[in-house]
Amino acid sequence: MKKLKLILLFLILSATATYAANIVYPGSTNATITAPTTFFIGNENPKSELTINGEKVKVHKSGGFLHPVDLEYGINTFEISNQYETKIYKITRPKIDKTIKKYSPITYKKPILYVTSADSTPLRATPYASGLNRLQNLQKDIPLKIVGEFNEFYKVQLARDDFAWVAKSRVKKATFQDFSPAGIISISENELPDKYTYKIKLSKKVPFTFDPTTIYETNSKQAHYHERVKDYHLTIFNVNSYPENKFEYLIDRKTPPFGYKASYNKNDLIIEIKKAPIIDKQHPLKGIKVMVDPGHGGYENGTTGCLGHREKDINLAIAQKLKNHLQKAGAIVIMSRVKDVPLGLSERVLSAQENNVDIFISVHNNALPDSAAYSKRIGASTYYYNLHSHELAEFIQDRLVNELGMNNDKVRRESFAVIRNPQTIAVLVEVGYLIKPEDNAKLLNSKFQDKAAIAIMHGLENYLNDLYE
Ligand SMILES: [Zn+2]
Repeated sequence: MKKLKLILLFLILSATATYAANIVYPGSTNATITAPTTFFIGNENPKSELTINGEKVKVHKSGGFLHPVDLEYGINTFEISNQYETKIYKITRPKIDKTIKKYSPITYKKPILYVTSADSTPLRATPYASGLNRLQNLQKDIPLKIVGEFNEFYKVQLARDDFAWVAKSRVKKATFQDFSPAGIISISENELPDKYTYKIKLSKKVPFTFDPTTIYETNSKQAHYHERVKDYHLTIFNVNSYPENKFEYLIDRKTPPFGYKASYNKNDLIIEIKKAPIIDKQHPLKGIKVMVDPGHGGYENGTTGCLGHREKDINLAIAQKLKNHLQKAGAIVIMSRVKDVPLGLSERVLSAQENNVDIFISVHNNALPDSAAYSKRIGASTYYYNLHSHELAEFIQDRLVNELGMNNDKVRRESFAVIRNPQTIAVLVEVGYLIKPEDNAKLLNSKFQDKAAIAIMHGLENYLNDLYE
């Protein structure tokens, strides 16, 4: 009897599955979307006639579809019909009050001394908490001379002519108002087997920035152009140095860039520049420590594909394959997660730092926001943040396009938390668009996932082989 019930249930479920189009996105028949466009993403029997408000929907042979629509203010009704059934979606586009309150920056009559209240406090070039405006992440207890404010930010005077911004929430008023500049006591350099270290002894902590400067090279065989690290530029602010109150220190590049760290140990500013290993051209991955990071996990699904698959699972499948190939090629691989568990972004970065990895590769698959419903973007893209990671991104992208055959959705610089860590060479790969039926069909195929993993590995091998070129 129980068995019969189960069979009946199965028959009913499979019957409804053939009749109704399955809508993956929007997630509810009563959704609220603020953008002027959105899309219906889902799946349908490719043989059936699917329409949305009378317009024919192009269904991919895999069953997946993505159909963009416009939204008017108020309630938008959509009839999704095939020959068997009609589903009604009501999407509300609320009118948003666009009159943004205009604040003007305030300049204080007298500066106030604050100190950073937490590690990894971003010092920014502009008073906004997004984009590529980070100048430096500062540790806790770095004194900052605050001379004004704008919205949620304080204006910091770094030196005579240098200013920056810090979030109000990341600093607290100093107990002792001492604006006097720091003295530089000594500077020493030291070479260790795996790194160069520079120690700048100061009379007290002051803000600083540390950045590689780069040049573009066009002579590479593998990628179109390369941005390469030329040297490193350290600027220490509020020091005893006439007339600008800042001290600039240029560090030559002695080894191919492989990550760096700039931080205080008491009042000593320590710069560590990691040496690149000697590469065995036959086995470039031999002994290289790689962290493979499958994006999302647990309740963090990432995006959902048009056939209903979760990004976190596809990411993990590709990442596992990447791990196996890298290990076979002699790399030491550490996975940020091996199961379907949630993992914070900072935990992933911390794990990479604690394991002292050389390379960090985050594996993701892409989606688009409602506002980009009509976008033609499709295929693979590779992201970097630190300039020393640009080359690896180019090399991986080259293989995803020329070996795996993905459309070139470009290499981009983005401030993603997992790739901001400068201690490793770090990239984030979006293999394809899970919401685009053509990419989706490929991404679900285990053989394709394997080829994607191999393409990523080949990109890494080419990068390593090119390090000393
Ligand atoms: Zn993702």
